[in-house]
Amino acid sequence: MSTCFTTPGLLSLAQAQQRIQHYLTPISDCQTLPLSHALGRVLAEPVKARWALPSHANSAMDGYAFASTDGAPGQPVQLRIAGHAWAGRPYQGSLQPGDCVRIFTGALLPKGLDTVVMQEQVTVSGEIIHIPPHWQAQDHVRQAGEDIVAGANLLPAGRRLSAADLALLAAAGISTVSVVRALRLALLATGDELLPVGATPQPGQIINSNSLYLQAALQQPHLEVNDLGIQKDDKQMLRRQVEQAAENCDVLITSGGASVGEADYLHSVFSALGEIGFWKLALKPGKPMLVAQLGHCLGFGLPGNPVSLAVTLRLLVQPALAVLSGQAWPEPFYVHAVCDQPYHKKPGREEYLRAVLSQPEPGRFQVRLAGAQGSHRLKPLSQANALIHLSRDSTGITPGATVAVLIDELSTHS
Ligand code: AMP
Ligand code: MG
Repeated sequence: MSTCFTTPGLLSLAQAQQRIQHYLTPISDCQTLPLSHALGRVLAEPVKARWALPSHANSAMDGYAFASTDGAPGQPVQLRIAGHAWAGRPYQGSLQPGDCVRIFTGALLPKGLDTVVMQEQVTVSGEIIHIPPHWQAQDHVRQAGEDIVAGANLLPAGRRLSAADLALLAAAGISTVSVVRALRLALLATGDELLPVGATPQPGQIINSNSLYLQAALQQPHLEVNDLGIQKDDKQMLRRQVEQAAENCDVLITSGGASVGEADYLHSVFSALGEIGFWKLALKPGKPMLVAQLGHCLGFGLPGNPVSLAVTLRLLVQPALAVLSGQAWPEPFYVHAVCDQPYHKKPGREEYLRAVLSQPEPGRFQVRLAGAQGSHRLKPLSQANALIHLSRDSTGITPGATVAVLIDELSTHS
């Protein structure tokens, strides 16, 4: 395949996003779940409504139901109250011309009646009500099927179920759904300097914060995450562990050791066990990212620097996981915002800067850098709620310039 590299040897993000799609075979196994356990799961097949919504015409207001033929629209009407219709307790009696029914929100519209007047607009004297002019036939009635007709498509395959989706399915008669089985992910941190969370580092040692970040960012019902802990920078041991993980999971995400240093073994281990999809991106942060097909498992070798890891996770791994679990590739959500700070950049690689997006007034977006941009700096990563995107050829930001900003769902606990 001929490839146009932005910087010699480096793939652009768009090229990497395109190339990765060749390695994404969505999971085909599915399982049936009750709706109560289906939040955040991906539908394996489309779902149709078993019945219409509303299933029958009912009242949208507390008021009085009447037949529009008992009056003339725009004229006052005088009617006799024949009985009550409550939500869940329909009116059972018969009706004569000139009768109305006291009705409450959600109550079935009695047979023969087609219009509701709000109680606030009516004058009541004993059994008689007086409806002022300005009413129209079918006012305040929810018609049968106006939301959904029976048999209509409710949701397509590939839909990740939201709270509102569950409510829609339940109301239309669905109680169980067929969903794609959860994607099995394994996490592996590599580095001689790493200690587990809670340990006290000696000089030169650091806490393995990446695995915790990955676990938290990937804590979603359609993903089943298994943390394999820390692996020393030992090529043989690393190879054994990657081989074993690749046999047992759909996706392996490693952190660290993906660059070209002497203790960076990921590339040679992934090459020995499978086919390299790409290595190294014209992206800052995130250059030394690696993707490989390891048998039936897709391997992501993410950079060890925490910010590079977060950015590559967001831009490449998360969308790939969406596709593997049966969803569409999610299109990124950018807004344009004014940045009042200067930032200097060298052309050659595109950059994603940790930033804080705000809305000083409705519709006007402003963005500032969340702090210094070193790829080891966790504080700005924690402060950021967005990423400013600077293109490959950009030379940075002049104060007052409008920049493209990617809203970062990872920091907003989606
Ligand atoms: P590497 O990609 O292995 O060259 O690591 C790049 C930087 O990221 C080094 O400063 C590492 O100490 C740091 N790093 C590597 N793995 C982790 C991890 N799991 N958690 C936090 N920092 C890490
Ligand atoms: Mg390392």
